[in-house]
Amino acid sequence: MDRLAIVVPCYNEEEVLKLASEALRRVLDGLVQKGKIAGDSFILFVNDGSKDRTWELIEEEHGTYPGQVSGVKLAGNVGHQFALTAGLITAMERSDVTISIDADLQDDVDVIEEMIDKFHAGNDIVYGVRKERKTDTFFKRTTAQGFYKMMGLMGVKTVYNHADFRLMSRRAVEEFSKYKETNLFLRGMMPLIGYQTDCVYYDRKERAAGESKYPLKKMLALAFNGISSFSVKPISMILGIGLFIIIVSLLALAYALISYCTGHVVPGWTSLILSIWFLGGLQLLAIGMVGQYIGKIYIEVKQRPRYNIEKVLCNAEPFSDEEKKESEGNRFLSRIQEESQGKREG
Ligand code: UDP
Ligand code: MG
Repeated sequence: MDRLAIVVPCYNEEEVLKLASEALRRVLDGLVQKGKIAGDSFILFVNDGSKDRTWELIEEEHGTYPGQVSGVKLAGNVGHQFALTAGLITAMERSDVTISIDADLQDDVDVIEEMIDKFHAGNDIVYGVRKERKTDTFFKRTTAQGFYKMMGLMGVKTVYNHADFRLMSRRAVEEFSKYKETNLFLRGMMPLIGYQTDCVYYDRKERAAGESKYPLKKMLALAFNGISSFSVKPISMILGIGLFIIIVSLLALAYALISYCTGHVVPGWTSLILSIWFLGGLQLLAIGMVGQYIGKIYIEVKQRPRYNIEKVLCNAEPFSDEEKKESEGNRFLSRIQEESQGKREG
């Protein structure tokens, strides 16, 4: 039976914490009764440096339900994406499968069962996807959808309308933990892991209590981080614009020469207009070229794993270090023997 850990990042969530704990414990109980997860499955609250009573409440819940509720206290506020990562990596060593969910109960806890079913059906990652954004404000809905579209244009693979409500098997979390980058955008990283994945669909509700911990400023920062951590396309765009302007400057050259020949120009205009266009284009081109190299350095310093081997079909077992040394030694010996034989014959 698989042990499930539900990871919940919490920042100033004193108003919803007990509600969340209750709702998630109910889900755990139901799944344990149906025999879908192990009895020692648990909820892991990650306190992201809250300034209110969130941690005290987590401690209380752990005191009352020590088996079902556990907590991680981060020393300060590091933001949602890091808090979630801390929770996933802590849970990875103690569970077979993890589900991450926000504390505010906006995501439907009742699809957790479907996620588990899909996990048992062989999926390593199951994305929770919002059906509609009825409960979001018009502003949040349009900006969010525009963002997903833009990410797609920039060549970043994301699951449309999926936030951070997702199931991950242990091996998926282990693979994720090899991504050492500091600019985290989890939604963009998950599709890089690979493995078989699936989605479950649900309606996103209103916040159960409290206010959003994602003000516009944090939202914009997340969006910018999402694009700049995954794509060097903006740099390529500068290169493209530079090339375009140089081509335009060639057209301008033709136009300016014709004007010059027909004599309708003030002296000095032709050379001035050409210099402006051509130099402008050249500068952008040069910046874009330098940018290409910086983009490459940027990708390199992330040191992301280059691939994720899922299975190897091979009967030969890998050699142990001793076996490797032995075979090296044998080759060395046979070389010496050959050489000495050669000398004797020669
Ligand atoms: N959160 C966090 N650290 C932060 C901000 C938010 O751990 O610095 C948590 C928060 O407690 C919640 C989740 O991230 O569980 C999502 O935040 P919220 O529901 O406020 O975002 P929204 O749904 O409004 O986009
Ligand atoms: Mg929310």
